[in-house]
Amino acid sequence: MIFQLRLPFYPLPITQVSKQFKEIFINKFNHTLSGILLSAGIITVKYPVIEVNLLHPSVLESAMPLAAGALIGSVFPDIDIRIPGLEHRTITHWPVIYGTGLVLSYFAGYLWLFFFCIGCLVHVLLDSLSLMGVPLLNPFGKRRGFKLMVVGGYAEALCSVIILIGIFCVWVEAHNNNIWRLIYD
Ligand SMILES: [Zn+2]
Repeated sequence: MIFQLRLPFYPLPITQVSKQFKEIFINKFNHTLSGILLSAGIITVKYPVIEVNLLHPSVLESAMPLAAGALIGSVFPDIDIRIPGLEHRTITHWPVIYGTGLVLSYFAGYLWLFFFCIGCLVHVLLDSLSLMGVPLLNPFGKRRGFKLMVVGGYAEALCSVIILIGIFCVWVEAHNNNIWRLIYD
């Protein structure tokens, strides 16, 4: 039985409200987590000490723009929700754009843009696991996906857990490097 409760004077049925809530918060949660994982990974690889001063000029100059690019990229494609007249999961979820951007920015030497494109591609990959899918050949054409996750479902929660484990592994890796340095420095 589908639970349909209509609040007085409220235009949307409550199931639709909760669907929107899940779409906005739970879906975004995984994208944000993946962005944190990417950016933490970048900082860890560049500066393998967890107690590194993130505001140190050299960190700000080299690792932070890349990490920020990845973090912003991981949530960027959903900007289409805020653009009037643009359908959700069309041009901003087209992997071809980010794939091209990835190659061009690499050869042009814009590494922050390179990692921005990686963030966007991870976003599109996560969205491709859902029922709705993402456009593949034509940005406004048929969407394709692996149909593994329903927004707000168990598979998506499992995905959150997997990404969180990834973040934990990055933290452990950074911490181990730190301990290693303490012993041998
Ligand atoms: Zn999206």
